[in-house]
Amino acid sequence: MTTANLTIDLSAIAANWQALDAMTTCETSAVLKADAYGLGAEPVARALAKAGARWFFVAVAEEGAAVRAALGPGPMICVLSGHMEGDTDLIREHDLIPMLNSIDQLLRHVEATPAQGFGVQLDSGMNRLGMEPAEWAAVRDIALGQMPVLMTSHLACSDEPGHPMNIKQLKTFIELTSDIDVPRSLAATGGILLGQNYHFDLTRPGIGLYGGLPFTEAQPVVSLDLPVIQIRDLEAGETVGYDNAWTAPYPARIATVAAGYADGLIRAMGGRTQVFADDIPCPVVGRVSMDLITVDITGLEPDPETLSILGAQQDVDELAEAAGTIGYEILTSLGARHKREYIA
Ligand SMILES: *Cc1c(COP(=O)(O)O)cnc(C)c1O
Repeated sequence: MTTANLTIDLSAIAANWQALDAMTTCETSAVLKADAYGLGAEPVARALAKAGARWFFVAVAEEGAAVRAALGPGPMICVLSGHMEGDTDLIREHDLIPMLNSIDQLLRHVEATPAQGFGVQLDSGMNRLGMEPAEWAAVRDIALGQMPVLMTSHLACSDEPGHPMNIKQLKTFIELTSDIDVPRSLAATGGILLGQNYHFDLTRPGIGLYGGLPFTEAQPVVSLDLPVIQIRDLEAGETVGYDNAWTAPYPARIATVAAGYADGLIRAMGGRTQVFADDIPCPVVGRVSMDLITVDITGLEPDPETLSILGAQQDVDELAEAAGTIGYEILTSLGARHKREYIA
């Protein structure tokens, strides 16, 4: 075995969805963009539908078509990028609900697929996606005449509960939607944790389902075990890997492990990351290569056959911190080369 073993616990994802659902009295959807944060949109969609989810969000129409194929007719599948040119056939054939982000998208939708449901995404201050307040004022009557199924917006700083941006966006969202009789949605994972004022009619958790911050009570979802290919002994003063980046300060025993930055082990991890032999931490030394990392296992007995980089000893956010990034990026970077195993 020379590929790493990525284990994805679907029952933990379902339990995380149920825990987030229990924090509100409204509908809880599930965000499956980027192949369910790298974990596999189709098995994750099926597990969450079984747990009770009826609304799903994806980034682009192609992802929506894949989720529809996994779930069959019934569940609402919403596309965050809206109705782009070229999306019309996918939207119609797979019964997708675009979240319209601009006047152009609204006109395209009404012209091309007038019978197809849609939502409207408003920009309440993040300046990324959605209609600006002035744009919305201009097309509000037309849009409401076509019966949108959902009004949404997205929070920029919801992982920081005390950030004044949260209240500012909440107020803007309420101003833009208070006299509209359409279900509303503002909160992703962070917004659920901000409390009831942010919940409205539907929440849209993503990262919390997959075991990441800011949902500190999430059950861990992924474990990643890396096979050891070779082990060698070094004398003090010998160097390891590209650029001689690590010099053995003592007679060291080095394991070469089959996974590298092509598998999502971000190159910036080198030098600050640990992997685990059962519960014993072993530092990654030297540069992360494309397909390999090197680990100091001096003093470890017996020689390990695999080393764990994600699992009970280290979660996605701990690994992210060592790499100077966030759990979202660790998850979505997990490579296609890992052998995947789903536990139900
Ligand atoms: C990614 C995303 C979410 C989910 O966010 P998490 O922080 O992962 O919970 C919800 N809504 C929109 C618009 C998004 O882009």
